[in-house]
Amino acid sequence: MVYTTDGFTWTPSAGRRNGLPTIGVVQPPEYSIQPDDDVHDVIVIGAGYAGLIAARDLTTQGKTTLLLEARDRLGGRTWNATINGFHYEVGGTWIHWHMPHIYRENPGSKEDYFTATTGHEQRNMSHEEEADIAGRVLRIFCNLDGDDLKHAWQYPLGTTQPSAALLAQWDQRSCQDRLDEVHDRLSAEERSVLEAQLLQMGGGRSLDRIGLLGALQWWALGGHTPTGLNDTALHTRLRSGQSALHRRVFAHAASTGRLSHRFCAPVRRVEDRGDLVAVTLRDGRVCTARAVICTVPLNVLAGVEFVPELPPDKAAAVRHRSVNRCIKVHVDVNGPDWLSWSALGTPGRGLVSAFGDHLTNAGNSHLVCFGPDPEAPAGISLGDVEAVQAAVTHLLPKDKQAGVIINRIVSHDWNKDEFSNGTWCFMGPEATSKYLSALQRPHGNILFASADWSNGWRGWIDGAVQSGMEAARALTQTKDVSGHGVFGTSKMTNGVK
Ligand SMILES: Cc1cc2nc3c(=O)[nH]c(=O)nc-3n(C[C@H](O)[C@H](O)[C@H](O)COP(=O)(O)OP(=O)(O)OC[C@H]3O[C@@H](n4cnc5c(N)ncnc54)[C@H](O)[C@@H]3O)c2cc1C
Repeated sequence: MVYTTDGFTWTPSAGRRNGLPTIGVVQPPEYSIQPDDDVHDVIVIGAGYAGLIAARDLTTQGKTTLLLEARDRLGGRTWNATINGFHYEVGGTWIHWHMPHIYRENPGSKEDYFTATTGHEQRNMSHEEEADIAGRVLRIFCNLDGDDLKHAWQYPLGTTQPSAALLAQWDQRSCQDRLDEVHDRLSAEERSVLEAQLLQMGGGRSLDRIGLLGALQWWALGGHTPTGLNDTALHTRLRSGQSALHRRVFAHAASTGRLSHRFCAPVRRVEDRGDLVAVTLRDGRVCTARAVICTVPLNVLAGVEFVPELPPDKAAAVRHRSVNRCIKVHVDVNGPDWLSWSALGTPGRGLVSAFGDHLTNAGNSHLVCFGPDPEAPAGISLGDVEAVQAAVTHLLPKDKQAGVIINRIVSHDWNKDEFSNGTWCFMGPEATSKYLSALQRPHGNILFASADWSNGWRGWIDGAVQSGMEAARALTQTKDVSGHGVFGTSKMTNGVK
């Protein structure tokens, strides 16, 4: 299998090795259906879910499309490496029939319980008690209106809500503000479980930087129930690995005969000349199209020059960025015993959650772990393997720590990655009300699609798909009309005509 330059793995025998094997690498990196200087109907920048879906929908609807991607592989922030036949989902992983589908099997293993770590204290409890405590504290936290937001946030997938003013009011606050408000209703252990859940959601440096509205939106998307979010967001993953789905979408687009692509081709400039858009790559080559769909993530969008300049509100949104700089680490531990174990805890030693996900083909327990921003007070660098090992060990029950052998670590440093500079999007206080519609708005013949500013499952795979679909639909359903840009995109709001 071909290696991408992204990610690393560590084993006791081989130490740390950069780059991981994946079916997502596209070879040859360049292919063109037309002479290089011909104008394409559309250029899509970025081959993550938003870009892939947009390219597939455009090509199947008759548009010649050039897909430009900075990396050597498909998938952006969602992709899997395959090591010894096991799929490590390095980025986005879980999907659901409230989004898409496919089940995960979860047989009971020996260590079949949940460990709550509160400072130096620990308590093991059943998964029933885990669901009870984790759900109860989330409900206390999110139930601002005494109605579980059932009416205030009635349409979690929609753009407008009956209580928009109330939502804007809640958006002024951070998760820390709300935690302070409910502090006295929670025990120390409950606070630790809640804090760990919030840090896992928002991944910021501290809870005062993580917007309350994002947490409330996740609660509403989870069906306004204590276990809904976990059931939807942390259980179901593709048996084939996410990269297999990327390959299928890519192959579908290519099968139309209308798709050209360039990988390892970072874009540095996008100029809308009115009748066409010129896109300049870092190596100086220029490609042209009648319209562009830009899916470059929020935290790296400032690295692309737009001509004419982005309007002030869009530029301010780009400067604001997403606050999520969490880390995700895969840790394989010897033997099958830890498959059904889970843990939450703050402050932790760099990780706030860990849970058994699948057995590897060698019969070891595969744990998925999350930690906050490396620059958080208890943050760790992914470059420090010993710190990662210590952080996982800290979450394990104390009487078992000595017997657990870590035999593989797999991760990717999304925060140091120049094409993501962070993980999934989570907004700081006030940002959603201030910036969301500016981020969604087209700029002349340049449309913007991304999970980072999608409606519905914002920050998720589903949001990326939704946003890519909407951008492609806006271009395929719009007839060329003079005076409103080549595709008449100036008539759109929120990416939807
Ligand atoms: C660690 C982690 C865990 C996650 N877990 C989940 C989960 O369990 N479930 C879920 O639903 N979501 C999850 N997410 C979120 C989900 O992966 C993302 O929201 C989604 O994949 C984003 O898709 P996108 O197409 O909007 O952006 P991206 O996937 O980031 O695609 C943008 C593309 O643009 C490219 N690009 C950037 N700059 C340039 C440039 N200058 N020129 C050309 N190309 C450029 C990038 O390389 C990238 O391929 C997770 C994300 C991470 C990082």
